[in-house]
Amino acid sequence: MSGIRIKNLRKSFGSYTALHGIDLQVPNGTLLALLGPSGCGKSTTLQLLAGFEAPTEGEIWADDVLLSSARGVLPPEKRGISLVFQNYAVWPHKTVAENVAFGLAIRRLPKAEIAERLDRTLRTVRLEALRDRYPSELSGGQQQRVALARALAVEPRILLLDEPLSNLDAHLREEMRFEIRQVHDLLGLTTVYVTHDQSEALVTADRIAVMKSGHLQQLGSPEDIFERPSNAFVATFIGANNELAGTSEGNGAIRVGGHVLTAPDRSGAAHGGTVSLCVRPSQVRLFGADQAPDAEGCNVLSGTVQRSAYLGEYRDVLVDLGGGRTLRAFIPPAQSFAPGSVVTALLPIGSCQILGPAA
Ligand code: ATP
Repeated sequence: MSGIRIKNLRKSFGSYTALHGIDLQVPNGTLLALLGPSGCGKSTTLQLLAGFEAPTEGEIWADDVLLSSARGVLPPEKRGISLVFQNYAVWPHKTVAENVAFGLAIRRLPKAEIAERLDRTLRTVRLEALRDRYPSELSGGQQQRVALARALAVEPRILLLDEPLSNLDAHLREEMRFEIRQVHDLLGLTTVYVTHDQSEALVTADRIAVMKSGHLQQLGSPEDIFERPSNAFVATFIGANNELAGTSEGNGAIRVGGHVLTAPDRSGAAHGGTVSLCVRPSQVRLFGADQAPDAEGCNVLSGTVQRSAYLGEYRDVLVDLGGGRTLRAFIPPAQSFAPGSVVTALLPIGSCQILGPAA
């Protein structure tokens, strides 16, 4: 077996348990994204992988080397691991080239090898032209590329990225996602990438591990996670952010308030069990009270428009369904409903899923 293996990893801080027995594998050469909301245990997992913290229970292996267990931890510098943080941490008084070469110089590599690796790494992250600049003369994205280059230059066995794009503006963040993926395709390094941004995970990762409250919710390819979420938490976190909670009626039916709705049932719940109907806002269609849409193959709900926002490509409409429930719909921009309008919402059955609660 090759790559990283995390077995039953638990981490407690005093009486608080941050990780409740995580099992994960990262095959060599793949990029795994650890995805989840703030506080779910992503950074703790990374700290344990880097060797900065010892697990309370469980083991971490890299190929056939035991990196960490409750009995002992291989020191960070002996793991062949490089780490890139969100706040770049580049040295302001060193040039780009000096920053990148620093890790090589302290390893006392021959001068010719340092020069060769420096050139190669700067080429990989497209910084050759900026090699003599100081960090203060670089944009945020360029500084983050310096941090990445510094991590790559030492030729680690494993690369750990902790929210590496969080400090960049939205436009740059989007661009850098593709760059990170390109660098990964070029070098094929075994990589663990921590993020709370689902589109960042979808773009960069081969596999995504979704976490919540120290529990692994699902591990799968981006398509698996997006198309076949294992529970309502994963579905809403990854974008199907309409979750109508109810009880299972069995046979692909769910009772939500006074309605019985139908959908492919992936909950495994028994009759009467707690389940949710999940549907993406982009799949919901809205019609005015004076219209009579063809509702064949759809769940039908009615409600009142609470708010509507024009976003250019679509309108983001929030519908009050009553009973404290709301439904979000992304509708064509040409369609418009004033707040207070009574609307009929059609939810195509094939676009809905009945899912159970988080693990
Ligand atoms: P974020 O995206 O906000 O960084 P995260 O998913 O990386 O969140 P962690 O930093 O791993 O979350 O923290 C998981 C939980 O463990 C949090 O509730 C946090 O408060 C707690 N925690 C982390 N480190 C410590 C510590 N040294 N002592 C006590 N609690 C800690």
